[in-house]
Amino acid sequence: MRVKGAPAGSPFLLKKKIMAHPLSQFIYCPVCGHRTFVENNTKSKRCTNCGFVYYFNPSAAVACFIRNKEGELLLVRRGKEPVKGTLDLPGGFTDCYETAEEAAFREVREETGLRLERCRYLFSLPNIYLYSGFNVHTMDLFYECYVADFAGAKAADDAAELFILRPEALSPAAFGLESVRKAVAKYKESVSNSLK
Ligand SMILES: [Zn+2]
Repeated sequence: MRVKGAPAGSPFLLKKKIMAHPLSQFIYCPVCGHRTFVENNTKSKRCTNCGFVYYFNPSAAVACFIRNKEGELLLVRRGKEPVKGTLDLPGGFTDCYETAEEAAFREVREETGLRLERCRYLFSLPNIYLYSGFNVHTMDLFYECYVADFAGAKAADDAAELFILRPEALSPAAFGLESVRKAVAKYKESVSNSLK
């Protein structure tokens, strides 16, 4: 359903899809252990016994369009749920105390073995995915990353397989995660516009 006044693809639409409170599975207060952890507002719960308040916010994650000197892209096939077997961009959650750029360098190294030369922030998209029966809300930060070549790249960690593709050959429908699908379409468009 389109929220009045909200642009297509806006976070309002995403928010509207999830009707349950994001902390509905958190029944007991994590501080005092009482079953008194009640809704405080749409994104927080409060313990009526000890007063503890917990706000639920999205977790930051990075996703990388990795390019070589020829302008080709390195993609991965997801080796883990959710949407195992679909295409993806290398990336993952940022760790505590690291920058998003550090997370991009680390995740690319973990999943492909490549050391990035540099990366450039592109845009962000909110996402929700089901993990362990829980709706994980993320704020996906997309980067364009550069390496001289893909020599020595090897699928590891969350990546089952690696692919090399021209940006023009990208097919958004082959990507399983909603935000990545949108990002791939957006990226493909920006690349084709820059070639005009
Ligand atoms: Zn409590």
